[in-house]
Amino acid sequence: MKKIEEYVRSIPDFPEPGIIFRDITSVLQDADGLQLAIDSMIKLLDGVDFDVVAGTESRGFIFGVPIAYEMHKPFVPVRKKGKLPCETISQSYDLEYGQATIEMHKDSIKPGQKVVLVDDLIATGGTIEAAIKLVEQLGGEVVKVIFLMELAGLKGRERLKGYDVASVITYE
Ligand code: IMP
Repeated sequence: MKKIEEYVRSIPDFPEPGIIFRDITSVLQDADGLQLAIDSMIKLLDGVDFDVVAGTESRGFIFGVPIAYEMHKPFVPVRKKGKLPCETISQSYDLEYGQATIEMHKDSIKPGQKVVLVDDLIATGGTIEAAIKLVEQLGGEVVKVIFLMELAGLKGRERLKGYDVASVITYE
């Protein structure tokens, strides 16, 4: 059986010179790769007691929904600014150039709910840190944060000290 890293396509110098982009489309477009990715992420949740899966737009949706479905939990989207139609809370965070803002519906998490956060990849950790802040503002408790891939060199984990963080594969 192939390992998950064998399904990930690495593209040098994308989107900028010097960056190696880890592409998940090559995982998704292979039935075995897709199943292995989802199953491996679900394994990271062994023994975790939780109520809700939340995923960040847009690749966090791709992985978060099948995990929630398989575990019979609700899914909450954390969306880019301006996309959610009802009352929202928002959180801005720094990108390499400029800023981004993500939002959640105010009624998407109930106070005290245990939340698992999902994204495809952690780089600097800025995106997921902003998502954690939103969940906590709504009174949710982040019990686990999971990724398919982790770029360890960018030290995203250090920003998430105190949280239970796990990823299926790690690139140094
Ligand atoms: P961070 O906020 O710096 O941790 O960046 C993580 C976000 O950027 C995630 O939502 C990823 O989808 C995206 N991202 C950054 N680098 C890559 C990559 O090499 N492959 C796929 N997604 C990436």
